[in-house]
Amino acid sequence: MEFNKCSRCGSFYISQGDVCPKCIAKDANDKSNFRNYIEENGFSNLETISGKTGITIRNLNRYLEYEEFQEYKNNIENNNNIAEINNIY
Ligand SMILES: [Zn+2]
Repeated sequence: MEFNKCSRCGSFYISQGDVCPKCIAKDANDKSNFRNYIEENGFSNLETISGKTGITIRNLNRYLEYEEFQEYKNNIENNNNIAEINNIY
């Protein structure tokens, strides 16, 4: 039997996925908040997104590794400089 370690709470579980059954709802909730935030506010840096959404930077980084957020990853990385420039004005 193979155990997985939950990426959110660190507990061990048998089912598939990155998070344990207890954290699946929280994870889905964070992902939809993340998506909604980007749709409404556009891309910014991870610190800003984390501050506004309450999603930890650790979880955000994990989502960016997912296929479904690949486009976000590119934009957020490329946007680091733009975010800094925007702060000047
Ligand atoms: Zn968990």
